[in-house]
Amino acid sequence: MSDKQWGNVPYFGLSSDWDPDWVLTPRQIELRDLLIELCESDIRANAAISDEKLEYPRKNLELLGKHGFLALCVPEEYGGLGQDHVGFAMVCETLARYGCASTAMCYVMHTSAVQTIMLRPTPELVDKYIRPLNDGRIGTLSYSDPATGSHFWYPMSSSAKRLPDGGFEVSKKASWTTSGGFADFYVIQTTSPDFTGYDDLSVFVVDADQIVAQPSTWDALGLRGNQSGPLEVPGVTIPAENIIGPVGDGAASNDEAVDPWFLVGSSSVWSGIALGAIDIAKRQTTQKRHADVGMRVADYPTIQDYIGEAIMDTNACRLMTLSVAQAMDKVTDHNTKSLGPGEFARTSFLHWAWQIKFEAAKNVATVVDKMLHACGGSGYKRGGMELERYLRDAKAGWVMGPTNEVLRQFVGKAALLGFDALDYWNQAYNRRAVENEVKKLDPAAKRELAERLVAEADKADAALAG
Ligand SMILES: Cc1cc2nc3c(=O)[nH]c(=O)nc-3n(C[C@H](O)[C@H](O)[C@H](O)COP(=O)(O)OP(=O)(O)OC[C@H]3O[C@@H](n4cnc5c(N)ncnc54)[C@H](O)[C@@H]3O)c2cc1C
Repeated sequence: MSDKQWGNVPYFGLSSDWDPDWVLTPRQIELRDLLIELCESDIRANAAISDEKLEYPRKNLELLGKHGFLALCVPEEYGGLGQDHVGFAMVCETLARYGCASTAMCYVMHTSAVQTIMLRPTPELVDKYIRPLNDGRIGTLSYSDPATGSHFWYPMSSSAKRLPDGGFEVSKKASWTTSGGFADFYVIQTTSPDFTGYDDLSVFVVDADQIVAQPSTWDALGLRGNQSGPLEVPGVTIPAENIIGPVGDGAASNDEAVDPWFLVGSSSVWSGIALGAIDIAKRQTTQKRHADVGMRVADYPTIQDYIGEAIMDTNACRLMTLSVAQAMDKVTDHNTKSLGPGEFARTSFLHWAWQIKFEAAKNVATVVDKMLHACGGSGYKRGGMELERYLRDAKAGWVMGPTNEVLRQFVGKAALLGFDALDYWNQAYNRRAVENEVKKLDPAAKRELAERLVAEADKADAALAG
């Protein structure tokens, strides 16, 4: 019998025998119990409405704010709950499992934006964006660029200019932004004011009244409440204090804040969705009975195999995610360490964070399919059972940046050829590929190419000289 409560009845899903609670502190278990209560009373019912009506889950996020969760990893001195990476993983997983995956994803983006500000906190940023969080103020990350697709670290459709008063004029086009048009503040990445190349990036925060979004155009297979539509920052003026970190801090900010927080949070969401689907399958297969053979669906060994494998694969992903979160806690003294520009801690675990996202997103896509098979046609129907919503939400995992195609190549390439071979900003010259292609040209074509290259080199020299 389950020891977890769902309102005033025992929880219908897996019991806590299958939760790795030894990883959590007593405070984190207390916070999780509170979250499960909120999921039962409000958040899960709102998930169905968000999914049905493409409605932004503002009520859920406000409820989280009321209980302090919008400032989960903010130090207590600034009004936060002072939690660490493991606490963040637990909250994201719990929201996705028991409540609403769209809310969980908005929450991941919100917390990642908050922690990007907290990497370089200034009194102005803290007063304007951090202290008011629990009044229900929501932030998000707006990075992906229409010109570069899932290469969200490459913001070609963006620019920033320094203004005489020390402020900045920033422009950006983003192809996807969770909470786009609904958030109160947007952490964005653009090329730097004195642009020297695409590895020269800067991070800014802009307010809701400075962006243009068309939330009404959002429609998707799953995560339908997360409202991740296109967004534009149309050359707006922002004060000097709205830069996060120094000019040119973008790559460091990605490695030390954006990626670590996003990858831990989103991996936890994918495992939370997988667990939520297993919970639903347990409820369905233990209740449905076949009168001819007198057995419940759960009595068939095939179904037991499905559930057993799904639990083991999902717990492998959860424990891997929690272990990477623990590693980040260790190097940051549980998220209390201040890091100045040039100082790094979480960055050394980035290649582990890539692995957890790949595994969790791959796992959830398989688990939801298997739970559908376990529940049969009943699971395929919309409505009461909710499995089909979990299935659709789960499919976002693989395609969200960094996509699983990109991640497995990052890991394989870095392992075989070294980290420098990743060449995020397309700067390294691949001599082998060029020479192989040139070999295929006849003498006339070689001459034509050589002449064109000499002309281009002359032009570049002249530009440098003049
Ligand atoms: C629900 C949802 C919410 C999102 N929220 C946000 C958000 O809040 N903020 C934000 O900035 N972005 C967000 N994104 C965007 C996301 O991070 C990706 O940028 C986006 O999903 C990429 O989609 P695309 O159509 O541009 O893919 P494309 O880049 O066109 O990719 C198409 C295919 O090419 C593959 N591919 C791309 N590059 C390579 C490569 N180098 N090697 C091998 N294969 C490659 C991809 O893996 C994919 O299979 C969100 C996406 C989703 C689905």
